[in-house]
Parts: sequence; C-alpha cells; structure tokens
Amino acid sequence: MPLRIGFDLDGTVADMYSALHVEALKLFGEEVLAKSAYKKAPPSPDGTEGAEAPAPEDSTGTLAMDELHLSARQQMHLWDHVKKIENFWTTLPELEPGIIARIAKTATERQWEIIFLTTRPSTAGELTQLQSQRWLDAHGFRYPSVMVVQRSRGKIADALQLDAFVDDRPENCLDIAVESKAKVILVWHGHLKDVPAGAKRLGVRPVSTISEALALLEQLDDIRKKPGIVRTLKRVFGQATDDG
Ligand SMILES: [Mg+2]
Repeated sequence: MPLRIGFDLDGTVADMYSALHVEALKLFGEEVLAKSAYKKAPPSPDGTEGAEAPAPEDSTGTLAMDELHLSARQQMHLWDHVKKIENFWTTLPELEPGIIARIAKTATERQWEIIFLTTRPSTAGELTQLQSQRWLDAHGFRYPSVMVVQRSRGKIADALQLDAFVDDRPENCLDIAVESKAKVILVWHGHLKDVPAGAKRLGVRPVSTISEALALLEQLDDIRKKPGIVRTLKRVFGQATDDG
C-alpha cells in the first residue's frame, strides 16, 4: 500500500497572504496597511483564531486576513474584490520556492499518493478545483488530485484512509488527529512554544517548514517499509516536542 498523504494548500504550500496583501494594497493603499504589514498576529493562548469577520462561506483566508489587520468591512471588501479576479488561485506564489516540485519528485520516487484539500472560495474564471490543479501543475506537480471541500477534514481524512496530513491550521490538525488515523503535521509559522497544547497532546507534530514536513513523511515512509521499528515511530511522532 502506498503512503497516502493529504496536503492543505493555503498557508501550507501556497502563499495566500502575499497575494491578499498585494490586493489589499491596491484597494486600501500603503497607509492603511503600513501599521500592520510586518506585524504578525499571534494566535490567542487557547488556540482559537480571533477572527471577528471570517471570509464569507469560507475559512481558508481567515488566518491571512488576521495578519492583514483589516476591519470587518475591509475584509469583506477585499474578498469581494478578490472573487472578481480572473483565476486568482493560479496567481499565488509558493510559500517555499520550489516546494511543489520537491513534493512531486519525492512522491514519484517513493510512490506516494498525494491529495490536496482546500476550502478556497470560488473566483471569476475557471472552477477553483481546476485553478488549483493548474497552479500545482505550473509549479511541477503533474496530474494533481485536488478536492475543494467545506466539511470536517477529520472525517474526510478518515474516509480517504489518509496515512498523514499536512496543514497550517491547528484546529484542522486537531480535527484530523481526533477523527482519523492519519499522522498530523502542523506547519507552524510562529514560535514552536506557541503551538496550542491540545495539538501537542494529540501527537500533532509541529514543523516550521514544508521541507521539515517532507523529511518527517520520508521517515514515516521508511518506518512503514520496515515494520517493527516502533521505537523510531514513537520518536518521530509520538512525543510532544520540547524544542521550542
Ligand atoms: Mg491552510
């Protein structure tokens, strides 16, 4: 059985924040964003995101929106604007340059099945699924599987029998850890010591980069190919990290 791995898109491999920032600059100008542009919003201590106005019918942009520090009205305005941009989802930069090609190469070499999951809202132009597929293909991932979903990722991970999942949102990671057997990797852009305690308790493994996530997945793959090395598995995934 090949390793079957789920990957989130925005905030995990795709840099939605930069793309939204560019559009916010066009709409509101330097002045409005100057105060907030380089100030990252730390998650609240209990791990919940303090979004006062999540994007309509969608949660994928909430984190990025938080970081822009816009008012509720400005957030709505920005999403209305973004949804009118033709094929917006094909325009995003990668979070780590070359990372999609690296995921594709590793997946091909190791015969992994990769499924990309996203809650992206639709925009002008092609279907969100096709835009996302074109984006992945353009960055070096041939024939990508993309599902645009709104429901619990935990239930989806369970139904798809995923072995591992990589996501940047702690609440998604918790959901997947609780509802499925998938090993969960949290791509965390802040200090590791600020990772919500609940995530560590459930064995969610925080990493700072997708490169680290790939290294963990390779270890998981090695362990599966050599059953019996349970101690290594525990070392890789079983313990809360102290390296904050
Ligand atoms: Mg995300």
